[in-house]
Parts: sequence; C-alpha cells; structure tokens
Amino acid sequence: MLAGDTARILEILKDTYPNAQTELKYETPFQLLVATILSAQCTDQRVNMITSQLFADHPTVEAVARLPVSRLEDYIRSAGLWQTKARNIKKTAQILLAHYNSTVPQTRDELMQLPGVGRKTANVVLANAFNVQAIAVDTHVHRVANRLGLAKSISPEQTEQQLMDIIPEQLWKNAHHWLIQHGRRLCHARKPKCERCPLAVLCPSAPRLRSDQEVHCKQADSQGQYK
Ligand code: SF4
Repeated sequence: MLAGDTARILEILKDTYPNAQTELKYETPFQLLVATILSAQCTDQRVNMITSQLFADHPTVEAVARLPVSRLEDYIRSAGLWQTKARNIKKTAQILLAHYNSTVPQTRDELMQLPGVGRKTANVVLANAFNVQAIAVDTHVHRVANRLGLAKSISPEQTEQQLMDIIPEQLWKNAHHWLIQHGRRLCHARKPKCERCPLAVLCPSAPRLRSDQEVHCKQADSQGQYK
C-alpha cells in the first residue's frame, strides 16, 4: 500500500467515525482492566451489563480481591469462559493489592504478567486508561486492516507491528478505534457492506472479497488469538 493511500484511508476513517472510542464502561483503570478481560469472546454490550452490577457492588481492587471466586462467577456467568475469567480476575486483583498498592501498572510488560492479560488487553488498558499510543488488535482490527491492505498478516501480533510501521504514532490509539468501528458498522466478517463503504474506492478487497481472507479471519477468531 502506498503511503498516500494509507493517509487517505486514515482521513476517511477519521471523518466517518470522529467520536470513536471504547464502548466498555468503566470509571477506573482497574475497572477497564476487568472489563477488557471479560470482553474476550463476549460483546461489549454484554460486558457492560455484567460490570454495571459487579462494579456497583464491588468497585475497587480490594473489594474484588476479597470476593470469593464462586461469587465472582455468579456475576459474570453470562460472559462465556466465566470460570477461567473469574479465576483470572480474582488473581489479578490479589496481585494488584499485594504488589502494586492496588493500582494498575502502566507498562505493557507488567500488565502482561497479570493472569488473563494478553497483548491486546494490555494495549486496550494502556491506550484508554493511560493515554499511551498503542494499537490493540482484536478480530475487527485484524480483519479490516488486512482487507484494506494496511496489513498482510496471519497473526494479531504481525498486524499490530505492520500497522505501527505505516501509521504515525500519534494516531495509533485513534486508528485502533476507527478500525473497530468500521468492522462493527460496515466491514462485517460476513457480508461486508462494500456498496456503502466510503473506503471502497481505495480498498483492494472491494467489491469482491477473496475467499482465503474470509477463511483466515475465521481461523484467527476460532483460535482465540485476541486476548
Ligand atoms: S470496501 Fe468492503 S472490504 Fe473494503 S473496507 Fe469497505 S466494507 Fe471492508
């Protein structure tokens, strides 16, 4: 992809989704961390329903660290993978309480040491809670970036690196939100709405998607690579 095309794609995305931001609801970095752990293979809407009650009753690191796992499971049962997530959230709260003075660390390496926190989750927390420029690659970002030719990759890590190589650093956080919004609104995994897409003129996947791209995106989804 030519640099000029990348710039035009980013301009169009910016104009199309000027207010793009995370749809997860939170009031503290810890709450965002918990919400992001819960969001693996779960919609943001479902996570927000779960956390509205969980955070109303147990808003802090201390409160969640004290909560028995079985009680935590009751709150998050509708999230999918709830037993694993409950264990990870409880352990994470206990580690923050014991080693970080009940705060959330602000480096990727430290975040990724926490149970249930992969690179994507760490980047979501860094970008949204601490305003660090980072590109969190979820299924939408991976799919849309590859369809648009911004990346040519088989893993979220490759996609992240390739996007960082071509997108100016000051736009990483916003670009991540723009690509997610585009994936949710128009560039759906199945049946993307290319006929309504403002990027169609620049998109190498329009008007007909290559079948191997679709297969590739589905494989990445099913392998749970977006953690
Ligand atoms: S033209 Fe189609 S494939 Fe390309 S970005 Fe738009 S919706 Fe996605």
